[in-house]
Amino acid sequence: MAAISFTNVSKRYEGGHDALVGVDFSLQSGEMAFLTGHSGAGKSTLLKLIMLMERPSRGQVMVGDQDLAQLQRNMIPWHRRRIGVVFQNHQLLFDRTVFDNVALPLQISGYDPVDAARRVRAALSKVGLLEKEQQNPISLSSGEQQRIGIARAIVHKPQLLLADEPTGNLDPALSEDVMHLFEQFNRVGTTVLIASHDLSLINRMGHRTITLSGGRLVSGG
Ligand code: ADP
Repeated sequence: MAAISFTNVSKRYEGGHDALVGVDFSLQSGEMAFLTGHSGAGKSTLLKLIMLMERPSRGQVMVGDQDLAQLQRNMIPWHRRRIGVVFQNHQLLFDRTVFDNVALPLQISGYDPVDAARRVRAALSKVGLLEKEQQNPISLSSGEQQRIGIARAIVHKPQLLLADEPTGNLDPALSEDVMHLFEQFNRVGTTVLIASHDLSLINRMGHRTITLSGGRLVSGG
């Protein structure tokens, strides 16, 4: 089954700007791909359509076997819980510990605290930060902070992991570490789509690459 499928998707923002034009592609369940293109090419918009942070102006977006246009409003939280998202500026809270940052999505979903603690430690262990769980993220390096962001994105074991420029603030060695982390989650079955304009890194990683230019899909579809 396709994890994500776009059929003739266009997005025009208010003011008449075409951010996406007739985009067709699908990503199979368990696949890992990069989404690339110049700044303004439409990468973030494409990710936002998957997360239902924006709606397409035309065309169909499917996530799993769910047509997002048919999704009831009260099902949007359920939809978002199937997806983990990593941002460039990781959006951590500096008034609480590493542990509490990662636990946040589980608290919001009303998890049992004992089960939540077990999952948080499993997630921190996967990103190699278990021994820092009681520290404040502000005391950690930028690479470690991004790994907290990744732990928080995968703590609820999403089927689909999206990332928007996850290495934008990192040097090349740390960027590669972060990409290898995404590969590890992909290896255990998570579907991964990473928006990045870092072509040299993408080429070194050697996965399928979907390229947007001016809102049109120009290769990898
Ligand atoms: P990328 O992530 O590849 O840099 P974006 O998806 O952020 O591209 O943007 C694609 C185009 O849509 C850009 O021209 C951008 O200015 C425009 N755009 C993005 N968000 C909005 C918005 N909320 N309102 C109007 N235009 C937008």
